[in-house]
Amino acid sequence: MRNEEMLLIPGPTPVVDSIYDALAQETRGHTDPRFVKIFKSAIEKTREMFKTDGEVFVVSGSGTLAMEMAIVNTVAGGEKLLVISQGYFGDRFIHLGKAFGIEVDVIQSEWGSQVQTKDVEEKLTAGNYKAVTITHADTSTGVAANLDALVPVIKKHGGLVILDGVCATAAMEEDMSKTYGHPDYKIDVVLTGSQKAIGVPPGLAVVAFNQSALAAREKIGRVPAYYCDIHNWIPIMNDPGKYFATPPVNLIYAYDEGMKLVLAEGMENRYKRHKAYGRAVRTALVEYGMKAIANEDVAAATLSCILYPEGLNDAAFRAALAEKGVIVAGALAHLAGKAFRIGHMGNTTNEMLEKAVVLIGETMKEMGFSVNPEKAAVIFQQCLSPLKM
Ligand SMILES: *Cc1c(COP(=O)(O)O)cnc(C)c1O
Repeated sequence: MRNEEMLLIPGPTPVVDSIYDALAQETRGHTDPRFVKIFKSAIEKTREMFKTDGEVFVVSGSGTLAMEMAIVNTVAGGEKLLVISQGYFGDRFIHLGKAFGIEVDVIQSEWGSQVQTKDVEEKLTAGNYKAVTITHADTSTGVAANLDALVPVIKKHGGLVILDGVCATAAMEEDMSKTYGHPDYKIDVVLTGSQKAIGVPPGLAVVAFNQSALAAREKIGRVPAYYCDIHNWIPIMNDPGKYFATPPVNLIYAYDEGMKLVLAEGMENRYKRHKAYGRAVRTALVEYGMKAIANEDVAAATLSCILYPEGLNDAAFRAALAEKGVIVAGALAHLAGKAFRIGHMGNTTNEMLEKAVVLIGETMKEMGFSVNPEKAAVIFQQCLSPLKM
């Protein structure tokens, strides 16, 4: 890989050479048939990944724009939105809803744990919610949402399920054709960004709407958006040679290549690989006296938020680790200084993560901690042995 550093923050994630090569192809006009063909294929691959019977949207923007697109097109001002929040990015839907005059209710978990399904059921019974947001993997805490428990409860009460997959799509199951205990109980909207588990540079917002979500858009009539209004994008997504707003041509080349890698590996393999990586990283770091704030049964496959052992200085540790070429992120809010966040998603590899585990230990040793990086590496590989069978 051309990268000089290992970018193990919760996105952007390491970019592989074939994606850089795609990105560096000649910029062509957005209506040039050679580009249109690639755009079409990228949209097709996105459909295939989500297995949706509806529409997908691939537009310039970050994950936050994808969140906005999901909300603005499904919930009108004055209607009610229930936010299930397991951290910082869950909370973002509160601010987003309020910005559009939506009535927002929220259920928040303590950081590191999941929201209780019975609390969700209670709220849903009392309120009349148009939609409910779930953050699949909250990037602030490394907690995954329990879709098997939440989706049926929400659908039973008639709300649309909006899933934030920015830190999960292509690594954790988000199959829009999957039924959750009843033929009609499905995920209605999934939104994501290009730069996390898909492994493409930042800059693309990706959203999928099923038929129920599209019907909700129709019912609203006029939405308080122009660029974000899916009405303006449906004709483009069905015929990418048409113009609404200039697509990011080179990024679409890169995204098409990224999606090619995703589908070639296979969704099931990717779910398994990410699950194993997450567990292996967390288990190996225990050897250093570190601990994920999420228990293993609720931990996300894509990233972990790891508490430092007593006496390890956050800024000094991350700076020294960066000197060795491994970039991890600080923790947010009340965990700042007490924990760090490490991504293990997208096109990261076994070798990369083992090296990172060893270098984390080496850094701690230099800072005066008595730890055993060789042993942590062995533990890391042992955890991955199911993958190698
Ligand atoms: C990163 C992230 C976002 C925000 O995405 P941007 O691309 O930074 O706008 C939203 N939700 C989750 C779960 C994320 O991890």
